[in-house]
Amino acid sequence: MLLGVDIGGTKIATGLVNRSAEVFSVRSFPTLANEGYSVSIEQVWRAIKQSLAPEVEAIGICAPGPLNPKTGIVLNPPNLPGWRNVPLEKMAREKFGLPVRLENDCNAAGLAEARFGAAKGCNSVFYAAIGTGIGSGIILDGKIYHGKNGAAAEGGHVSIDYRSETICRCGSRGCIEALASGHVLERIGAYDLNEISMQLGAWLGSVVSLLDPDIIVIGGGVAQIGEPLFEKLRAIVPTRTVNPHARELPIVPAKFGAEAGIVGAAAVVMTA
Ligand SMILES: [Zn+2]
Repeated sequence: MLLGVDIGGTKIATGLVNRSAEVFSVRSFPTLANEGYSVSIEQVWRAIKQSLAPEVEAIGICAPGPLNPKTGIVLNPPNLPGWRNVPLEKMAREKFGLPVRLENDCNAAGLAEARFGAAKGCNSVFYAAIGTGIGSGIILDGKIYHGKNGAAAEGGHVSIDYRSETICRCGSRGCIEALASGHVLERIGAYDLNEISMQLGAWLGSVVSLLDPDIIVIGGGVAQIGEPLFEKLRAIVPTRTVNPHARELPIVPAKFGAEAGIVGAAAVVMTA
């Protein structure tokens, strides 16, 4: 049995996960992120301590980026004020005496889909979480693609319009996250589905040209729009890529919803 821990800006979700990705005893603890590092790190330890069971063999933790999964260090996530270069993996290993792995939350969710979810059996997977922001995970040959510094797969910050007047929170212009995420949808107060579909379609078309994945899996709040969105994406993406196989490319909703991070974190430690 593995313990999956999903650290978010608002809550820390935990669950026991077996090797078939079944989840038991899901619990939630407030992160208290705004009270600063010393309070929120104690919340993480409290969450793990209260969720551990004697049969737990290892702990998988996922957290919002930026973090370096290769070194197990949380860098400086905007959602966790005061956290700066925190060696979370090492700290947790020493505190609980169990193997621990740390992973970016979208990478972890992508791995969960590839191993147990909507992309089960697929070798190369592009996973996108479209919610208040847009995150992504790239699974190549069954493994998370990390890049040199563990900073790969920031798909939300791929720009689709260099002239855009929309400045992203990363400082660049026309990032897909700044144009088509749930946060923007809330601000404009309406779903202009055609515009959003065209933007997401152009973005995913570029992804297909670049990666030629077996499947695209979409999770997060915006994906809850469901079939009307997916139908449009399946129609638009082949018109926005040079890849001649794009018409056969499955573009499907994620299997895991709120538990994506817990299962993903466990999947990471399962493959370690
Ligand atoms: Zn950006």
